[in-house]
Amino acid sequence: MTRLALLLCTFTVVLSACQQASKEPVFHDQILAFGTLIEVTLYDTDATTAASVFDELESMYRHWHVAWHAWEPGALTGINAKLAAGETAELDDELLDLLETANRLSLKSGGLFNPVAGQLVSLWGFQGNPLPEGTLPATEDIAAWLIDKPDVHDIVIEGNSIRSSNPRAAYDLGGIAKGYAIDRCIEYIRGRGIENAIVNAGGDLRGIGRHGERAWRIGIRHPRAQKLLAGIELDGDDSVFTSGDYERNFERDGKRYSHIIDPRSGYPANTGSASVTVMHDRAAVADAAATAIFVAGVKDWQQVAERMGIERVMLVDETGNISMTPAMERAVTLPQEPDEEQ
Ligand code: AMP
Ligand code: MG
Repeated sequence: MTRLALLLCTFTVVLSACQQASKEPVFHDQILAFGTLIEVTLYDTDATTAASVFDELESMYRHWHVAWHAWEPGALTGINAKLAAGETAELDDELLDLLETANRLSLKSGGLFNPVAGQLVSLWGFQGNPLPEGTLPATEDIAAWLIDKPDVHDIVIEGNSIRSSNPRAAYDLGGIAKGYAIDRCIEYIRGRGIENAIVNAGGDLRGIGRHGERAWRIGIRHPRAQKLLAGIELDGDDSVFTSGDYERNFERDGKRYSHIIDPRSGYPANTGSASVTVMHDRAAVADAAATAIFVAGVKDWQQVAERMGIERVMLVDETGNISMTPAMERAVTLPQEPDEEQ
């Protein structure tokens, strides 16, 4: 465990103890994984159960962080090497389910969510390899990727085996792993008999049950200002995921290049989106759909949402205009800010 994680755990224990003393049955944990601080809140359990749930979730994240990493050596980089060599790789059950989920959502998105575009993500320097100051990827490299254009149709999964007919296919699960992991956490938390909880990975989250007498309250960040754009009360079981061009990006000649890549052009999505927020009962679906709908942009967002069976979407365009589906309008509060987070 890293020094920071240890510090955070110590902090967590202190925090939990304080809250127990005030008789509020709320317990918090913070886990550093996938480059994000993940905050787990459990309501209505006891200190011993909470501590053991947190231990297990921390160890699950430690495993996933390595196994699903797109460029640091682990299970996924091993699989990508085999796909590139035209060989067959073996998947454990969890990775099999994750890759099948990613492939299915990719098909529903018409390929705008493309989990095998890892080489393209890397070309743009978003795999821990930032481009040298002032440079862009070589246009020939992007053109070569576009000729081969790997997508999930190239992938064959039989039983627990996977292979690719396109050597350029390389999984990068950055657009779905956070959501998939949160679904697994909620499943585990429920399995431990806890019905009121929230798992929040830097604003992308899934909540179940309630926070005592009230619903869970969350805020959506404004893509262009340090303020909240909207508030949402989560009642029952729901996930909220946002894909934004402000999360990771770089600038060249005053133009912003974000980490969400349009597989049709080979360039960072330039379709007018600043941020897209999706609500869905499954976090993995909300995560992949937010990425796909961001790529679809101002012209096609409704069509792609419909195609993916997503009813609640909010898109903020580059000029700050907000568009929403009717179901999303009913779910969010605008423009007033929630008085409290979580
Ligand atoms: P998100 O923040 O969920 O929208 O995911 C963005 C991350 O997903 C990027 O950092 C890449 O790792 C990966 N990614 C970028 N573009 C795409 C795309 N079109 N489809 C799937 N994953 C993508
Ligand atoms: Mg996503």
